[in-house]
Amino acid sequence: MNVAAAPRFTAADAVRMARELYGLAVEAESLPSERDQNFVLKDSSGPRFVLKIANREEALEVLDLQNKLLDRLGRIDTGMVFPRLVAARSGLEVTPVRGLDDAAYFVRLLTWVDGVPIAAVPQPASLLRSLGGGLARMDEALRGFEHSAAKRVFYWDLRHASMAWRYLDLIPEPRRSMLRPMVDAWQSIDWGRLPTSVIYNDANDYNVLVDAAGTRVVSFLDLGDVVHSATVCDLAIAIAYTMLDKQDPMAAAAEVVRGYHAIRPLSEAEVDALFPLAAARLCASVCYAANQTRHAPANEYLNVSNRPAWDLLEKLASFPQDWPREVFRRSCGYSQGARSTASLLESRRRMLGPSLSISYSEPLHIIRGWRQHLYDASGRRYLDCVNNVAHVGHSHPRVNEAAARQMALLNTNTRYLHENLAEYIERLTAMMPPKLSVVYLVCSGSEANELALRLARAHTRRDGIFVLDAGYHGNTSALVDISPYKFNGKGGRGKPAHVEIMPLPDVYRGPYRGSDAGPRYAAHVERAIRRVGPPAAFFAESASGCGGQIFFPSGYLADAFAAVRNAGGVCVADEVQTGFGRAGSHFWMFETQDAEPDIVTMGKPIANGHPMGAVVTTREIADSFANGMEYFNTFGGNPVSCAAALAVLDVIRDEELQENARITGDYLLAGLRELAERCSDVGDVRGRGLFLGVELRDASTAAALVDRMKTSGVLLSTDGPLHNVIKIKPPLVFDRADADVLLGGLRTALSQNSI
Ligand code: PMP
Repeated sequence: MNVAAAPRFTAADAVRMARELYGLAVEAESLPSERDQNFVLKDSSGPRFVLKIANREEALEVLDLQNKLLDRLGRIDTGMVFPRLVAARSGLEVTPVRGLDDAAYFVRLLTWVDGVPIAAVPQPASLLRSLGGGLARMDEALRGFEHSAAKRVFYWDLRHASMAWRYLDLIPEPRRSMLRPMVDAWQSIDWGRLPTSVIYNDANDYNVLVDAAGTRVVSFLDLGDVVHSATVCDLAIAIAYTMLDKQDPMAAAAEVVRGYHAIRPLSEAEVDALFPLAAARLCASVCYAANQTRHAPANEYLNVSNRPAWDLLEKLASFPQDWPREVFRRSCGYSQGARSTASLLESRRRMLGPSLSISYSEPLHIIRGWRQHLYDASGRRYLDCVNNVAHVGHSHPRVNEAAARQMALLNTNTRYLHENLAEYIERLTAMMPPKLSVVYLVCSGSEANELALRLARAHTRRDGIFVLDAGYHGNTSALVDISPYKFNGKGGRGKPAHVEIMPLPDVYRGPYRGSDAGPRYAAHVERAIRRVGPPAAFFAESASGCGGQIFFPSGYLADAFAAVRNAGGVCVADEVQTGFGRAGSHFWMFETQDAEPDIVTMGKPIANGHPMGAVVTTREIADSFANGMEYFNTFGGNPVSCAAALAVLDVIRDEELQENARITGDYLLAGLRELAERCSDVGDVRGRGLFLGVELRDASTAAALVDRMKTSGVLLSTDGPLHNVIKIKPPLVFDRADADVLLGGLRTALSQNSI
């Protein structure tokens, strides 16, 4: 329909028409419309009527369709109120009037319906369900309604969205390519499986009216887009608009779907078509807008809905492929194996070993991970600032493909030869100082540290271990014994006799803070050697995670390692959390300390979530361990693990993730420092690359902040001996925009005075 053929009457014209045609003494005010003209007619008691002047090209038959439809909606109990058609004094329901251009325009008068556009009110879940319910009732009321004018080829009918794709080329790159998969998804809709009826087809957020209290939907306005189409298109359009400007568009849409399904149950085919249809509606909007701004660049109405549409399209394009469908399926009870959060919690409570806490008082039920986001069953997306396992991004396709391909070919133990193993150990050792040249592949960080313990003891024939205070090295008995975080924590049995605790080189809270802090902390290691004798090994993370994201003063590790080595001990760098480029400036965190360990242990990020760990050591230490007893690890180093781990190295290199960690980490650190200056709750901010910590006043402040951030869609965790440090260690694909989201969230949360 030609927007240029829209009527151009003035408010004074409307007042005159109201008087002459309907005998009304009213004032008139124009309402926005794309193709038609609508005037609200008011008298002293407020708005009474809407005078509608149709587009010059509107067929009379279409107006008849709308009139019959209003008549039907007025007579069926939908629990809502619809405008009634008022005949002119002449008796005509539709009156032709002549415009200044001498063309004939059709005029109608409808009663005013009280209400507030849903766009103007807060939209809690209950209201969104009411929207779905109201729409379903309207669709039910129109079931069986027939009118020849409804069977038209109409550009807003989603079945004919191909009319919009003609303008796709007007959209510049990279946006055009972003829309392409959505257009493809629309193209693969199986229309034959979708029931059809005459539908309202325009539940945009200015057409949906709610009651004054904003609690329920009371009417739908403007039947200009009514068409005979797939019934589910009505809902798809409603959710397209509902999603605009929402922090969690899918969660909002899911509520509308739930409300709809409760009244007019959707078939599985309809549910599966919903997301492609909603996305297609948004794509069609921006395509038509691109075309119309060519012809009428100044038309305000066209531009209003454009920016939010693009913002939303960008968000939708970033979602993992089948997550929206899964959320809708879950809303309608069509997801195989899906269970409620309550039922999952109950199973866990009854049958899972109880020695494990669950994050958040309202636990998360995450069903997808993609890049730096996690996606839950209810339609919420979270920025994952915690997960240092999904190192190159959740569900990275290259890692998935590599592991799946190998899994389909062969997975067996390392008693046979395999290219993947050879290639991995070659590439891993190439990234290490030359003397660290022998690799053991295991299945976790704990297995790596457990083996490091055995290597050190075999090499030195000693038993004693030095560790850093607050350190954690793994979950086996031997490792709990060398983890102050555990043995001095809840349920711990205290320090075993063979273990010595070195003070954590913390320049914020610890005793030494000046430029000589490094050597002074390291002197404790020398003193301990003099006091208790030389250890088998000194275990230290290269920056302390469980200690609360503590970065050591310069010279510390190098001096401490020298002291231990001079006493014949072995230095173990636990890089389980800190390795593989996270430090940004260096691939390994120990390199930031100019220190060279004798053993490096790795885990978490090594295969992006596939269970794997590694130990790299010197030829001498490996030879000391090779006393005839084999070290066999059923799963360690299998070809699937190696394929995944190789893909991780490839992605870090190809996507320049170490460099990204440096650049994004520096940006984030600067932002956090700025925040700290303005906020008295923040004590210290520190970080290297994408391994950062924000130390808050106390544990309860930190816990409240983490909870508040979850509400705004950002996942964080706390740690440190006082549980007051916010840890930031996201997947390395975390970018500047994510940093802004995190900083904005923290700024808001910290400025709310209840923290
Ligand atoms: N070392 C450090 C520093 C760790 O943070 C962890 C795990 N949190 C481990 C070792 C143990 O790794 P895993 O849980 O894979 O056994």
